[in-house]
Amino acid sequence: MRSTDYYGILGVPREASEADIKKAYRKLAMDYHPDRNKSHDAEERFKRLTEAYEVLRDPDKRAAYDRYGEAGLRRGASAGAGFDFTHFDLSEALNIFMRDFGNLGGFDAIFGGGERARDRHRGADLKVTLKLTLADVAAGTTKTVRVRTLDRCAACGGTGAKEGTRPTTCGSCGGAGEVRRQARSMFGQFVSVAPCPTCGGEGTVIADPCGKCGGDGRVRTEKTVQIDVPAGVADHHYLTMRGQGVPGPRNGPPGDLIAVLDIAQDPRFERHGDDLVFDLPISFGQAALGGDVEIPTPYGPALLKVQPGTQTGTVYRMRGKGLPRLGEGGRGDLHVRVRVWTPTNLTPEQQELLQRLAAIEAKPPTEEGAAKKFWEQIRQAFGG
Ligand SMILES: [Zn+2]
Ligand SMILES: [Zn+2]
Repeated sequence: MRSTDYYGILGVPREASEADIKKAYRKLAMDYHPDRNKSHDAEERFKRLTEAYEVLRDPDKRAAYDRYGEAGLRRGASAGAGFDFTHFDLSEALNIFMRDFGNLGGFDAIFGGGERARDRHRGADLKVTLKLTLADVAAGTTKTVRVRTLDRCAACGGTGAKEGTRPTTCGSCGGAGEVRRQARSMFGQFVSVAPCPTCGGEGTVIADPCGKCGGDGRVRTEKTVQIDVPAGVADHHYLTMRGQGVPGPRNGPPGDLIAVLDIAQDPRFERHGDDLVFDLPISFGQAALGGDVEIPTPYGPALLKVQPGTQTGTVYRMRGKGLPRLGEGGRGDLHVRVRVWTPTNLTPEQQELLQRLAAIEAKPPTEEGAAKKFWEQIRQAFGG
């Protein structure tokens, strides 16, 4: 199992206080913030730092991590806590950073503000819901969806200016898109940067708007998007396709396409994370004599060897017949829970045979620990 050392990532000892963790994260996040650090692995480092911070700053998550490692966190996620590692993407990481450190006043000044001003013209995120079956989850799939969105206006090339004219440089900010002010805060004097109120941060103004798009630079359209869904996803996951959302106005940067997953329940299986549970009814004969039974799996039918003398409540584990482990490789298991089925409408022949059996069969033992044994088996089946 992949094991991540969150303390190591933040460079703090295991007994570090919350304040130490916050301080260490802030310093490193500033070093690796993708707005400032243009090295190729900065984005990845920033995401990992934020992931580590997000676990260690939360007393519950930290306690779960200290005890069980990452598995403890995943346990929480499957119980609905909704903390998902495999899709911790850059925009989430940036949001977490801004949430905790975005209001320190000097932030804009530190980062120059340019990125923020441009972000004002970022297009909207597109959200789509993907309906998936358990077979899709087992194998991974590619879905095609039709979305209503906006597209760059062909008449003006996205500039928003009438054909033959061009946006002109904003007189208020000289094209910078931002205005700087000396401001005072509890940290001392700093430069405050705000988007230019005249041009809204764009640096240009349009005297004569394009007749086709009204100056927005975009027109309505529909498009088809292909979304690759990796195997092993769960309902609480979502997939983010950066830059696949609505384009920003006047050639602004596009938003993201976010696919929310809606996975249909398969009535044959209970899902527990990567593991599946299947309830198998077997006859007296099968239970007593044993034999091969065909079991449905997400990958097609498979044979299970039922041992002679199998009791109700026995759980067989079919290794690797569960769902793929997202981002880890391998698969979970399929647990087959056996229930001995008692026949109801007996034919005269069956009745006669059973009566003959009843005359010679052994009495069931009055097992003291039978109930306890049953729950132990269930616990073992789930590796608890
Ligand atoms: Zn136009
Ligand atoms: Zn301006």
